[in-house]
Amino acid sequence: AYNFSAGPATLPEAVLRQAQAEMLEWHGAGASIVELSHRGPEFLQVAQEAEADLRALMSIPDDYAVLFLQGGATSQQALIPLNFAAPGQKADYVLTGHWGKTAIKQAKPYVDVNVAASSEADGYRDVPERGAWRLSDDAAYVHITANETIHGVEFRDIPDVGDVPLVADFSSSIVSEPLDVSKFGVIYAGAQKNLGPVGVSVAIIRRDLLERAGQPRADIFTYASHASKESMLNTPPTWNWYLAGLVFKWMRAQGGVEAFAASNQRKSALLYDVIDGSGGFYRNEVAAGARSRMNVPFFLKDEALDKPFLAEAKAAGLISLKGHRALGGMRASIYNAMPEAGVEALAGFMRDFQQRNG
Ligand code: PLP
Repeated sequence: AYNFSAGPATLPEAVLRQAQAEMLEWHGAGASIVELSHRGPEFLQVAQEAEADLRALMSIPDDYAVLFLQGGATSQQALIPLNFAAPGQKADYVLTGHWGKTAIKQAKPYVDVNVAASSEADGYRDVPERGAWRLSDDAAYVHITANETIHGVEFRDIPDVGDVPLVADFSSSIVSEPLDVSKFGVIYAGAQKNLGPVGVSVAIIRRDLLERAGQPRADIFTYASHASKESMLNTPPTWNWYLAGLVFKWMRAQGGVEAFAASNQRKSALLYDVIDGSGGFYRNEVAAGARSRMNVPFFLKDEALDKPFLAEAKAAGLISLKGHRALGGMRASIYNAMPEAGVEALAGFMRDFQQRNG
């Protein structure tokens, strides 16, 4: 089946096959890679290659640390104010959907959150224009959600916020297209959409920010400590890190982020064309310039058709299309690992379903 789940999401079949082949014994080591010490030569090589491959894929400058951490993106949302803001300092948040809300919720105990701009009143259908943002004079950072996984709203340009570090949640769009990392203070992402299995998060942090005092906190919640120990301050999620490393190698073999950017553009355009060309049978209300290339939420004109749509899609081998409970309707998540053939099959099914029910 083609799996349109938003995360955990489909992984490249080649990656799963390789993991299966290597699961029982790691290259003559006498044990599986999940059974070996994270400090042993076998895993250290896996870890170092994964970091090098991600650096190459994203052209990450040397003055950025790359961390592989336990905890999901939500944990990063709490660690960011703890590490980068002084107690009670202001931090600016631009709210464009559900995950921006969770970022604010996690930050509120630690910082004076200023919602610099929000599309909430409009049902999160657009990214507020940069000119309308009300940034604070003395913010510790500006936080955005690069791609809102539930609402299907994506920043298509990196906003200019001057000298204040831009912190961005890229959980659902990291490595989906070339990105100028140097425009950001921090990029973070849970792995379970574009990077691999859930259980590891990636944080890419400009090194000067690691020197900020932040707030009183335990060492284990300190990015600088993780950076100084190369993400081995405690036992890292080795299996997840290994699988993410396989995804990075697979991506490089497929032509890197440039190749995925082109295919992601084609895939998302195909679905939006079906929706927009359906004469209102399908509906996506996000402003054209802010539509996500990764998550395509859509509604059927008659809610009574939702159940048959999902059942027939499943029978056609198209699974996990039910929209998030916060929004209802449908959602097709089409990350890097979703082949174009899967999106073509969905587009064909949608046209056919409309013909039979329109
Ligand atoms: N941010 C975004 C954009 C997400 O899509 C998600 C999860 O789906 C999260 C944050 C939360 O991630 P986690 O469940 O790994 O904490």
